Amino acid sequence: MAQTADAIIIGAGVIGAATAFELAKAGYKTISIDRNREAGHGSTSGSCAIIRVHYSTLEGTAFAWEGYHYWRDWADYLAVSDERGVAKFMECGCAVMKTAENAWLEKHAANCDELGIPYAHWGPDEIKAALPLYDLSRYYPPKRPEEDGFAEPTGGELPGALHFPTAGYISDPALSAHNLMRAAEAKGSRFLLGETVVEILKSGGRVSGVKLASGEEIHAPVVVNIAGPASRQINEMANVTGDMTITTRALRQEVTHLPAPEGYYATEGGLVISDSDIAAYSRPEQGSNILVGSEDPPCDPKEWTNDDLDYNREFTEQWRIQALRQAQRVPDLGIPSRMKGVVDLYDVTEDWIPIYDKSSLPGFYMACGSSGNQFKNAPIAGKLMTGLIDYCEAGNDHDERPFVLRMPYIQRDADTRFYSRKREINKESSFSVLG
Ligand SMILES: Cc1cc2nc3c(=O)[nH]c(=O)nc-3n(C[C@H](O)[C@H](O)[C@H](O)COP(=O)(O)OP(=O)(O)OC[C@H]3O[C@@H](n4cnc5c(N)ncnc54)[C@H](O)[C@@H]3O)c2cc1C
Repeated sequence: MAQTADAIIIGAGVIGAATAFELAKAGYKTISIDRNREAGHGSTSGSCAIIRVHYSTLEGTAFAWEGYHYWRDWADYLAVSDERGVAKFMECGCAVMKTAENAWLEKHAANCDELGIPYAHWGPDEIKAALPLYDLSRYYPPKRPEEDGFAEPTGGELPGALHFPTAGYISDPALSAHNLMRAAEAKGSRFLLGETVVEILKSGGRVSGVKLASGEEIHAPVVVNIAGPASRQINEMANVTGDMTITTRALRQEVTHLPAPEGYYATEGGLVISDSDIAAYSRPEQGSNILVGSEDPPCDPKEWTNDDLDYNREFTEQWRIQALRQAQRVPDLGIPSRMKGVVDLYDVTEDWIPIYDKSSLPGFYMACGSSGNQFKNAPIAGKLMTGLIDYCEAGNDHDERPFVLRMPYIQRDADTRFYSRKREINKESSFSVLG
């Protein structure tokens, strides 16, 4: 006899595991399936896991502000112990440089004012106090080394930054997914690890389960696609892409791991930095190191891939370019000859805003297109998916009368049309990993 559940979740990354936990708390018997042998070993494990509260849209900011609180209260949220320990939220704060590119962060500040998010305006003196070695010369627009003027200042200095104290990063992103798996299991969820979904089963005009590579079938009236960079293949398997105006594609990324020069950060905990003038974000990493990621400037070619398993996992010239861009700020930055860091995939939509939605196939749902910026939102995304599934399975038409999510910490409603698979491209987006 086939195993049965109330809901199957494809993917046990941080968003998949959070959704299993939230569904289980709402009374669903869930089975999560992941082809990896460990939870969180998909793109979650490659994540920089930065928790920040600034986005270019008000909806995105509100979601991230709600999301911050679950990490702040992580152990209480889980309400269960994990034999591997609990992921740590390093709340070191985040400084975002004001540039013409981000319109001097005026919109971000207005979003924070509306939502009551704490922040401070920093001038050059405050930036230098936090980052004594930081050269504030402007380099915009970002270039590649082969272009004239690479690493040459373009005139003037950064005028300041916004500093957000309620920000930081999660020390071990894969562990956070494991924590969520243990929390979900404590509520009765099951996890089938090392199993690959190869078919979405249908019956009577709706989804009825999945078939595994082993040939085994698992039956359930609800199936949720949280397959990260494989989301497109799963949606194609379910044949639900026909009515989607927003789609997902896997995009290759490199994160550069560098030793931090002595005195780089003024405080021991360091600082998350977003600097669109040099198209780089960075955060402290254990052992006096920094991780440097790209803010996807137009000059860098994008490496899309149709196969989320078969792509180049070696570092390329991009690794060095990110190091050189960071060295514009800190000329003493040592760039080691041995490349260390991460090569992984984002699951990107046209406007870099995720899809949290139902589909054209009754019972089939998707939480995908996380576009390199939804780790922080995993718990609230899990709540959104649970409320949405409840709402649709009760017979409501979410496309016609969208589900409204009350965000419990910030006591505000989330407009779920923002995450619709049928939305128009959101022109307010940064069209980058910044969301
Ligand atoms: C380099 C990098 C840096 C990032 N930095 C940040 C950051 O600083 N802050 C932030 O908020 N976000 C960041 N992100 C984004 C964030 O990590 C992701 O949004 C999040 O981890 C996605 O979680 P997920 O559960 O949706 O997907 P994943 O963790 O990718 O999990 C999907 C799972 O589905 C499984 N799967 C796929 N296909 C199948 C199948 N057919 N059968 C069974 N299992 C299947 C995979 O094995 C995988 O484990 C970053 C991402 C990357 C790659």
